[in-house]
Amino acid sequence: MKPLRIIVAGGHPGDPECGCAGTIARYTGLGHEVILLYLNRGEGYCGGAPLDRCASIRTPEAEAACRILKARPVFAGQYDGRAVVDAEHYDAFARILSAENPDIVFTQWPIDRHRDHCALSNLTLDAWLKSGKKPALYYYEVAEDTMMFSPNEYVDISSAESPRRAACYAHVSQQPGKWYPKQVEITRRRGIESGFPQAEGFLRHLESKRAFLP
Ligand SMILES: [Zn+2]
Repeated sequence: MKPLRIIVAGGHPGDPECGCAGTIARYTGLGHEVILLYLNRGEGYCGGAPLDRCASIRTPEAEAACRILKARPVFAGQYDGRAVVDAEHYDAFARILSAENPDIVFTQWPIDRHRDHCALSNLTLDAWLKSGKKPALYYYEVAEDTMMFSPNEYVDISSAESPRRAACYAHVSQQPGKWYPKQVEITRRRGIESGFPQAEGFLRHLESKRAFLP
């Protein structure tokens, strides 16, 4: 199989890892190329440190997570908590996506408690439509924020627990001990639905072509 290029887009450093780290590790383990595309550098929160230091704290955390997952980080240049969805930013985001020429794009589900996640989802959908629906498009879920999500495809991530956990815990400033166990509850539940010990669940856009899931 020819190596695929896969983009996993997220509102903040840590979102692609939270929702998809097991699937990412399985893809890269099979020799596929994965890019983690972060809408911003997490300027809005980094534990107790002053906000003007957050980007410089969270960028290396994201880079460390990507090293663990054998993925490549790309930052879309927006600001945490102040996501802009207008003509200019739709175009800028679409340019980033099309420059990478992905075979598959994963993005956050649009019904979500965090504005940045909703924005990221809309930016991705618009770029996908503009591309003529060229890559396959799948949605993912993250603990605490995603609402009303019903996956229809699953990836068995039981063999990827170690890199998955390490990539999430690379986001030290985000206190992963508070949210990682909740994501594991989700993947156990998705596992029950799909017949695996643990699974990440995805919703393929109904107008998207099917793609290889690992
Ligand atoms: Zn987020």
